Amino acid sequence: MDKFRLGRTGLMVSLSGFGALPIQRISKSDAVKLVRKAYDGGINFFDTSRSYTDSEEKIGEALSDVRRNVILATKSYGRSKESMLQDFQTSLKNFKTDYVDLYQLHNPSELSDPDDPDGIFATLLDLKKKGYIRYIGMTSHKVDFANAVVDSGLYDTLMYPLNYMSTPDELALIDKCNNRDIGVIAMKPLSGGLIYNAKLTYTWFREQKNVLPVWGLSSDKELNDFLALEKNPPAMDDEILDGIRKDKEELGGSYCRSCGYCTPGCPKKIPIYLAAKMGLVLRRTPHETYVTPEWKEGMERINDCINCGQCIKKCPYDLDVPSLLKKNLIEYHDYCELHNV
Ligand code: SF4
Ligand code: SF4
Repeated sequence: MDKFRLGRTGLMVSLSGFGALPIQRISKSDAVKLVRKAYDGGINFFDTSRSYTDSEEKIGEALSDVRRNVILATKSYGRSKESMLQDFQTSLKNFKTDYVDLYQLHNPSELSDPDDPDGIFATLLDLKKKGYIRYIGMTSHKVDFANAVVDSGLYDTLMYPLNYMSTPDELALIDKCNNRDIGVIAMKPLSGGLIYNAKLTYTWFREQKNVLPVWGLSSDKELNDFLALEKNPPAMDDEILDGIRKDKEELGGSYCRSCGYCTPGCPKKIPIYLAAKMGLVLRRTPHETYVTPEWKEGMERINDCINCGQCIKKCPYDLDVPSLLKKNLIEYHDYCELHNV
């Protein structure tokens, strides 16, 4: 698989990266086989997080004998030196390694003060000096914060949701990172499942300069689709451009990106991250997974919404979340009635 240089890290990464969040959902043996198959297929960048339960362990099991050939990236939600160091030690053990190539802070809400000797950034630098981590990255879902990360000049990489649905402000981040030689890693290249045509999104990413899409993979079929595209990359043509244009028209700007920021604080435990885009999901993907008794019960919780507004305050896309939820509940009922499910 072709490779490119991931900004100032100098790491040569495969054009496609493996996103390991979904392997939490499959058995250990299936996950190990899948990760190994990805490696055998030429993928050398594997991204996970301490918060993705057993995903690090599965990667460690699959790749420890080829450790020097792969680039392992993980993240910590730790917001103190102590919790971050604890996460880091656990990651090393899970990966069966003594270093991490790219260690990222997972969606913090503020930048760590680099001059605070007990701060998170100073701790990361210390780990870097001692050879436990090679590069330091940051992940974010908020364009203003992502710009601040890049402007700080402290981080070697930025991971941000990017795909052909991204806004001009978000796409400008790519140029800014390229100008400053900061590696760009794209999370949610399929927009949290709303983009279902792998060929469209894959081809769009090939046109971007120095952006590493990290595909969330949990099945042989998904992996095979991307490996086949890598072997015979389609050229951007009118048909693909037309597909992208139609998607942009259908999805528009105000759809839920499933970042999940708002969901944990909802006092009525509404599964907002998916409920707020359920209508689109049902129109664009097979419905079996979303008309189960559990999902029906989750969707009905929308009726309990008390309009407290917490979700609106947390949404980086300024969505009117309660209205979006109500609209999606109506579409959900219509869909179930129409399909008799
Ligand atoms: S406004 Fe409704 S959906 Fe949003 S957090 Fe409050 S109860 Fe939950
Ligand atoms: S409503 Fe906003 S904050 Fe909540 S999951 Fe969707 S995009 Fe994220």
